[in-house]
Amino acid sequence: MSGPVMSAPPRDCPPWSAWVLERLQMGLLVLDAQGDVVFANQWLLTHTKLAADAVLSKNLMEVFPQLKDSAFAHALAQSIKSGFPTLLSQTLHPSPFPLYLPSSQRGQDKLLRQSIRIMPAGGLVADTMDQRYTFIQINDVTQSVMRERLLKAQAVRLKNMAQVDVLTGLGNRRRRDDVLPTALRASGKTAQPLSVIMFDIDYFKQFNDIYGHLAGDECLRQVAQVLRDVFRRPQDMVARFGGEEFVAVLPETDGQAAQALAEQVLQQMRALGIAHSGSCTAAVVTISAGVAVYDPAGGQTPDRLVLAADQALYAAKSAGRNQVCGPQ
Ligand code: GH3
Ligand code: MG
Ligand code: MG
Repeated sequence: MSGPVMSAPPRDCPPWSAWVLERLQMGLLVLDAQGDVVFANQWLLTHTKLAADAVLSKNLMEVFPQLKDSAFAHALAQSIKSGFPTLLSQTLHPSPFPLYLPSSQRGQDKLLRQSIRIMPAGGLVADTMDQRYTFIQINDVTQSVMRERLLKAQAVRLKNMAQVDVLTGLGNRRRRDDVLPTALRASGKTAQPLSVIMFDIDYFKQFNDIYGHLAGDECLRQVAQVLRDVFRRPQDMVARFGGEEFVAVLPETDGQAAQALAEQVLQQMRALGIAHSGSCTAAVVTISAGVAVYDPAGGQTPDRLVLAADQALYAAKSAGRNQVCGPQ
């Protein structure tokens, strides 16, 4: 049995209540016990672009067929059954109702983002009414969703900026600290090998002493370019962590492949032919490398793996520099 159909509040409401309801900047819908719409405010009609007679006295699912079998429809049924109010998460269900954004505000979204509260008139409240009604309140949360999106994008940009080495444009130590544990976890899950290579320029202190700090900086940039040229796969990560030391984290790469790549870096460094009269290995700038391989079964920590690569690098230095040493 249907109750009275309202386009405005009942007469015994205070004189200003209709004025307030029409100006509320949120959607209001009242359903009767059959789920027919007995009240829809102006905001809702404006944003759905529907006339009052297309909504009033009609079943909600008939007015908005897209709601059938939706999470909103389930929440509504559940709320009516239990008598408890429900708040629909705007993150999981961003736009259940076809409420359109004004064209001036349309970016990538056409529909406005909605936070929906379903309130069944239960218990004492129902006793004062002729039947059970359900009140649906729809808040436009588009602005806060946009703001949140912007803040998230800014946070990602800042994080990326904080992980870049300003001299070379490679990642820095923070980047390595961020990437390595995740890469190890992925390697553990997929049982794929992962290699880490540490690089250190040979006799770089002398290079600075002889050619000056600015030439040293330029040399570091050239090393970075060689590393970028050799480690091209998107999953490879190369970072400089202070000084003249670099690290490459190479997922899905076994020790043999890592050694071959490290040899390529050494070869390209020699081929650059950056004069270094203070070097004891060659007349040009050279670099040494140490390779360590992650054993997914062994469950090494990131620090242990880096230490192993460091020890291999130390072995390369001790053995005369300008060479690659593998796992010790
Ligand atoms: P080894 O062959 O054993 O590696 O000797 P090395 O001289 O390269 O090693 P050491 O660690 O003694 O010296 C590293 C030098 O790197 C010291 C410093 O002058 C230089 N260095 C560190 N960071 C920078 C930088 O950002 N720019 C420049 N130009 N030089 C740097
Ligand atoms: Mg060093
Ligand atoms: Mg060095």
